[in-house]
Amino acid sequence: MSPTPPDPNAPSWQLETSLVHAGERLGAPVAQPTTTPIYGSTTYLYPSLAELDAAFTSGEGFLYTRYGNPTVVALETAIAAAEAARGAVAYASGMAALYAALLAAATPRGETAPRPGVILAARDLYGSTMVLLDELFAGRGATVVYADLCDPAVAEAAIMQHQPQVVLAETLSNPLLYVADVAALVGHCRDVGARLVLDATLTTPVLLRPLSLGADLVVHSATKYLAGHGDVAGGVVAARSSLLHATLVRQARLLGASLGPFEAQQIQRGMKTLALRMERQCANAAHVASFLAQHPAVAQVYYPGLATHAGHHLAASTYGGHFGALVSCELHGGAIAAASFVDALRLFLPATTLGDIYSLVSVPAIASHRELTPAQRAERGISPALVRLSIGIEAIDDLLADLQQALFPLGKDTGNRE
Ligand code: PLP
Repeated sequence: MSPTPPDPNAPSWQLETSLVHAGERLGAPVAQPTTTPIYGSTTYLYPSLAELDAAFTSGEGFLYTRYGNPTVVALETAIAAAEAARGAVAYASGMAALYAALLAAATPRGETAPRPGVILAARDLYGSTMVLLDELFAGRGATVVYADLCDPAVAEAAIMQHQPQVVLAETLSNPLLYVADVAALVGHCRDVGARLVLDATLTTPVLLRPLSLGADLVVHSATKYLAGHGDVAGGVVAARSSLLHATLVRQARLLGASLGPFEAQQIQRGMKTLALRMERQCANAAHVASFLAQHPAVAQVYYPGLATHAGHHLAASTYGGHFGALVSCELHGGAIAAASFVDALRLFLPATTLGDIYSLVSVPAIASHRELTPAQRAERGISPALVRLSIGIEAIDDLLADLQQALFPLGKDTGNRE
């Protein structure tokens, strides 16, 4: 029970004992570390059983890593600050974070367990989010309804008609980049007492802070922009109220999908350069979008920075001058042309993720939205010819040259190229 450091030179210890205990529990350093250390310890020691019992009762202090870990708390504190939240909870992936956010949002005030009700979800969501809703919520008693929540009239009518308990949308949708009107959704949700959960993975707190506009919970796949380097998975949920934060904390202990301390440290490290990366990635994306929009091989570009995009004015007035760092497009020549294009790219990596410092390319129909049926994809405008580009921090000239060489054999008009 005692946290007093055992004496490694204690004469009574045999080698086996010394190998196990020597050098451990030396006490915290006197000087404060500049960055939060990685606390790998799964448990924490108290001088007496009574003090351990008191720590369990108060809920303060660290006990067991699934209940709280100092490195993870440091990340959660950084997320709460970035999102202007009352608190945040970190999870092992974005999907775990989405699941946790939906459970917490469906838990009525004063209760501990979620109650099945109506979840009104945006039609345009990351593919696995839809499968989560269909298999783990609709499959267990909740009613899940989809509607085009980026169309203000449709969103208002659907919220009034279905009187949902929870409304779920992506602030900027993956992969077609529809822009949600967060302020309007907040107003309609308040009218019917619904909780608004927003997946803000694509906007990040650099473009938008939805809790400040009145959303209840914000979710991020931290695997993407927050971490940013393609080397760690995680998810976070930030809560506007103390009640929802307490619900998340309680349920997180039971879900057990806790983020590990090593991952937490890496994500927090990534967040330190989030604003810089987003500036660069969004600026690069704007160049890529205008290049593609003028290219004869390209039939359609989806990017909210283009004046032709349906969400352009909303994004322009709410995203602080940025438009995100994804650009999707369709080429003349359909899926065959898309496959030739993707295979010809050399700098863009054909990786199934987004938000990294590296520029990435994927075909949603065979990756992020693969689990949807062809009919579900068609209804959402995700054709086999749709290509999603996630723009990184590389030099823009190198990115444009790569796109140019990959599009070159496909262009109808091959003039004006170097
Ligand atoms: N939300 C969005 C918008 C995503 O694009 C993804 C993954 O691509 C997720 C959530 C799930 O995140 P993770 O892969 O970290 O579980």
